[in-house]
Amino acid sequence: MTTKFEASASFAQSMDVLDPLHVLKSRFHFPQHQGKNSIYFCGNSLGLQPKSVTAAIQQELSDWQEMAVEGYFRAKNPWLYYQYNFGKGLSAMMGCSEEEVTVMNTLTVNLHLILQSFYRPAKERFKIIMEAGAFPSDQYAIETAVKLHGFDPETAIVEVHPLAGEKLLRTEVILQTIQDHKDTLALVLMGGINYYTGQFYDIPAITAAAHKAGAYAGWDLAHVAGNIPLQLHNWAVDFAVWCSYKYLNGGPGAAGGLYVHERFGNDPAFPRLGGWWGNDEKTRFKMEKGFVPRKGAAGWQISTAQVFNMVALKASMEIFEEAGIHALREKSLQLTAYLEHLIRRSPLPCEIITPEDPTQRGAQLSLFFPENGKAIHAQMMETGIICDYREPGVIRLAPAPLYCSYTDVFRFYEVLTSR
Ligand SMILES: *Cc1c(COP(=O)(O)O)cnc(C)c1O
Repeated sequence: MTTKFEASASFAQSMDVLDPLHVLKSRFHFPQHQGKNSIYFCGNSLGLQPKSVTAAIQQELSDWQEMAVEGYFRAKNPWLYYQYNFGKGLSAMMGCSEEEVTVMNTLTVNLHLILQSFYRPAKERFKIIMEAGAFPSDQYAIETAVKLHGFDPETAIVEVHPLAGEKLLRTEVILQTIQDHKDTLALVLMGGINYYTGQFYDIPAITAAAHKAGAYAGWDLAHVAGNIPLQLHNWAVDFAVWCSYKYLNGGPGAAGGLYVHERFGNDPAFPRLGGWWGNDEKTRFKMEKGFVPRKGAAGWQISTAQVFNMVALKASMEIFEEAGIHALREKSLQLTAYLEHLIRRSPLPCEIITPEDPTQRGAQLSLFFPENGKAIHAQMMETGIICDYREPGVIRLAPAPLYCSYTDVFRFYEVLTSR
């Protein structure tokens, strides 16, 4: 795995030639810049559109046109069972059984729903540990959930901060915080990868510590899904939610993902909010009283499958299955390492705030420019390199291995050093 990197266009090109996944780039549409494909490093915000999406949507439109209600059973991909299309691909990525995952709603909605099951605070156990500076939607969700149960966010939410002068969260600080609150802790809820720093947390260690403290552990995997393969089942993670429009390329507003460990999915008495799509298929249409949850994560489904919000995800998952998440991760490690190598050579003052350890990060590097960050970002955009800027001075780059190449990464370096 240790490749000797070189800062040259010819080296980058030779890496692309050797890369068996390089061909997949041509399966995606790229935003156009002066008549050419842009270089796209924003897959951590919104993934690109697979070219196969147009035909896939057309298929559903035709089936609806021609079959109307019969499409539930007779469509090419019967709508009644549409969610089954995702079990195989998602279980491979998440490291769990097909029954432990499903696709429904959107991330924050799923977070609220699953909190109904896993955050049922009592007088003695009511606290939630989360990372300081979590993604705003998660902060709002937790704050309002705590208030809904009549608790005060000031005392019920415990935020873990980096040590003074540091930007990353140390695992031992997280574990110590769990230990410190072990008698009052209900839930540990963290983002698998911090959206800002790109830090990938130690999911098994933190999950085990939460369990030892008598609390649940849930993960927001928005920046992990389609980026790093996991072992959610073996790590005994209780639940996880993610969105499908970042690395998974499901398109804006695509239906989000839900994982629930089988020890809850197999327990019909485990509390939840129900709807007909979560009810046992055999009795769903009998219109009788008494909710009988389906086995697995599907027992948390509420409404009929949002087919048009899942079509693009299905098309994208087919490309993921072809590539294999482990092969993608292997390429991703190399590609991100190459980007890091080039940035470290650049004479411009810049700090990579993402962990140096490749096992503690995914495809993203966050660069802090003490000066000119905004101007550098503008220059990238003007030259057709799409990346993201956040105050103060942080450019986030996500060379997603499905459609980014070594040549793309080298091009970034060329523009960076041309200043
Ligand atoms: C992108 C992202 C979300 C988005 O939530 P939606 O409900 O899909 O809008 C939530 N949490 C994190 C950590 C994210 O990165």
